[in-house]
Amino acid sequence: MATPGTKHDDATLVRTTEALRGALAKPLAPGLHLVSTPIGNLGDITLRAIATLAAADVIYCEDTRHSRTLSTHFGFAAPLKPYHEHNGDVARPQVLAALAAGQRVALISDAGTPLISDPGYKLVRAAIAAGHLVTCVPGASAALAALTVSGLPTDCFLFAGFLPPKSAARVARLRELQMVPATLVFYEAPSRVAAAVADIAAALGNREVAVARELTKLHAAVVRGPAGIVAARLDAEAPPGEFVIVVAPAAAGVVTDAMIEARLETALTEATVRDAAQVVAEALGVARGRVYELALELKRRSREA
Ligand code: SAM
Repeated sequence: MATPGTKHDDATLVRTTEALRGALAKPLAPGLHLVSTPIGNLGDITLRAIATLAAADVIYCEDTRHSRTLSTHFGFAAPLKPYHEHNGDVARPQVLAALAAGQRVALISDAGTPLISDPGYKLVRAAIAAGHLVTCVPGASAALAALTVSGLPTDCFLFAGFLPPKSAARVARLRELQMVPATLVFYEAPSRVAAAVADIAAALGNREVAVARELTKLHAAVVRGPAGIVAARLDAEAPPGEFVIVVAPAAAGVVTDAMIEARLETALTEATVRDAAQVVAEALGVARGRVYELALELKRRSREA
């Protein structure tokens, strides 16, 4: 019988238990296993993640205290050892030695998929170079979760990790990305999310964005709309939590003033205003007069600065 409010019945429970038993019964090969873990909701762990972590000889993680919650929740017996950006150079030879001894080594991060804005890249390179088996147990990742609920194009996207923390560097990075014909996905710290979205509005034009917060958790929410409006809303509400910012691709054929200015900044270091305007206008396929006016304005601003 299904519990009121749910749709499963005993058959689902039996089948799910059998599936987990089957996964647990499979032997785990020696090697490095990159295991994705939930990004907030422990129910998002996969059967293979449970089976792999249950069979591992050792589980390397970013923070042993943090991962103890997961380990205790599912009853994993393997010792937890730290592998993070500050101890990687010391820990890596130890992991490689364990692999050379034929151990089954799991690597997890605090949440989501290891290596995605998380440690592990150098370890994977070293394990491959040493000829060890490297496998993955895919699962949750905040970037893909946010992309899917964003309502923005999913056919082509660029995951660009964290933006620089300071506004000037952030704007410079955004300008590098402004011509990319893809949806952009960024991770962002709660203290900077409003400022980052405001910089997106300034540097990329008032594109549609979706800011996904606390995905899979109790207070999960997505704020969608033009970047300027979303930035003002985030600024006013200053909600805590973890955030992913998803930005619509540059509209095909639309060249914003910000795009022209970004090109001009480089061109003006090498050419006169007239020549720079000519080169940039041709490169972007826009009227030379418009570019010339913007170049004069840039020159005026740089003289005043
Ligand atoms: N490796 C992880 C993954 O695959 O999602 C990401 C690690 S990165 C250090 C942590 C960042 O991911 C957070 O600062 C936030 O931007 C994003 N993030 C993680 N969990 C999230 C969640 N539940 N909702 C929204 N963003 C999340």
